Amino acid sequence: MAEVLKGMEVANAMKEGLIAENEALIAKGITPCLAIVRVGERPDDLAYERGALKRFEGLGIATRVMVFPENIAQDEFESEFEKINGDESVHGILLFRPLPKTLDEDAIIKKIDPAKDMDCMCDTNIAKVFAGDESGYAPCTPEGVIELLKHFEVPLKGSKVTLVGRSMVVGKPLAMLLLKENATVTICHTRTADLAAECKAADILIAAAGSAKMIKPEHVKEGTVVIDVGINVDEEGNLCGDVDFEAVEPLASMITPVPGGVGSVTTSILAKHTLKAAAVVL
Ligand code: NDP
Repeated sequence: MAEVLKGMEVANAMKEGLIAENEALIAKGITPCLAIVRVGERPDDLAYERGALKRFEGLGIATRVMVFPENIAQDEFESEFEKINGDESVHGILLFRPLPKTLDEDAIIKKIDPAKDMDCMCDTNIAKVFAGDESGYAPCTPEGVIELLKHFEVPLKGSKVTLVGRSMVVGKPLAMLLLKENATVTICHTRTADLAAECKAADILIAAAGSAKMIKPEHVKEGTVVIDVGINVDEEGNLCGDVDFEAVEPLASMITPVPGGVGSVTTSILAKHTLKAAAVVL
């Protein structure tokens, strides 16, 4: 039977350190603060926002939620965003994307101060991830995967990692973070010729495809560490990952559940980034 890697265990292990760091900054006169910027009421955004607020409250880190109507005009949103960006009491910004189609998302992203860009939206932070420069901010989910693997002492150096997914949000930056850990990384996508063979060659298989339960036993060799980043809804309307958990679990040595796996670490990384951004101000 595989060891089930629970994200909350990782979040709990990070908790004490984050609380202490926040308190130390407050003692020095800086109150770390994350601004969550949301346009409209997308259920995915609201779910993430609830999770983030709960996590930050548990850590005692301040948050500010700025909500704008879906029909906000570009110039008005840009001017509101600039105010948040320039507000010295805000150390980090999380902007929910995608923005409504009526808004020019790229124009907004270009405005964000890289020092406040907590989820790696801007080119400066993306370039730093690709250069292996840790002075910026990697996207929270890929960094959460690395945190989880390290917490459960999964060896990365020299390990063969197969990633399914090549998006700029998860797959590509995660590949760079894994390379930095000296893993040997294969990135798969919809045009990969033999997905099952690529996946079966892995010591660590990471699914970030956004396709419900697509990873089946034929993709997994015995003893593989299986990490599921996917968040999907199955035919019965239940939340599920990209991995067919019931079918794959008997083959895996370790496996993350959905929900309760990688997703539970993401908001702790967001908190870690907010504290790092606040500390830079010192
Ligand atoms: P995207 O849709 O942007 O990218 C999906 C990637 O997976 C693409 O590169 C695509 O290939 C590849 N892919 C899709 N289906 C297959 C397939 N059948 N075989 C091989 N490759 C495939 O998704 P994201 O990267 O934004 O998100 C991936 C998943 O992670 C989603 O379920 C999302 O909800 C979840 N997610 C979870 C987070 C968390 O905190 N846990 C945070 C962010 C995302 P191609 O490039 O060829 O199209």
